[in-house]
Amino acid sequence: MKIQMMHVGELGTNCYLLEDEATRAAAIVDPGGAGDQVLAQARAQGMEVKLILLTHAHFDHTGGVAALHKALPEVPVYLHPADAALLGTQVFPAIGAPTVPYGEGDTLKLGELTLTVLHTPGHTPGGVCLLVGDALFTGDTLFQGSMGRTDFAGGSYEELMASLRRLGRLEGDFHVLPGHMGTTTLEAERRSNYYMQEAMG
Ligand SMILES: [Zn+2]
Ligand SMILES: [Zn+2]
Repeated sequence: MKIQMMHVGELGTNCYLLEDEATRAAAIVDPGGAGDQVLAQARAQGMEVKLILLTHAHFDHTGGVAALHKALPEVPVYLHPADAALLGTQVFPAIGAPTVPYGEGDTLKLGELTLTVLHTPGHTPGGVCLLVGDALFTGDTLFQGSMGRTDFAGGSYEELMASLRRLGRLEGDFHVLPGHMGTTTLEAERRSNYYMQEAMG
């Protein structure tokens, strides 16, 4: 498993290219505003993009979907239905592609890798985190030393706290790959993230 991170768009959203090195199958997590650029990077390295995965439907994470869908019309775009229902409103502009629903407990195959979906609402109603191997993609749910905002449409402080509690109680440690700012580990966040400590009581 290999993961590359790119900062894309005006808000510096983290886009990730997840590769199963055994089969060269790749997933793009949150293409931000840079669908073409991410696809070019994947192709230049000989990967075949099989999945487009959205942690949530905010525009800074989904802006690259339309270009990707145009280039890869057969590749599914996964999004939690609670966020899909908001597309076309406020901070959830239409993304220019049909979405395939995924949610709590679903698993997706990427070559020989298996991803597990955790529904973690609070930043948005349909926010998800994605677990694969020792990596945890947290979108805008958990950041290094912080958490996502809850003041956008559909946000909920209580739900986000419950989601952080849930992440904090996962067994073991994971590399945390958030939707903005730097990467961290779950253990570091358990030790030093104020919001996670609040959430864990
Ligand atoms: Zn967001
Ligand atoms: Zn964001």
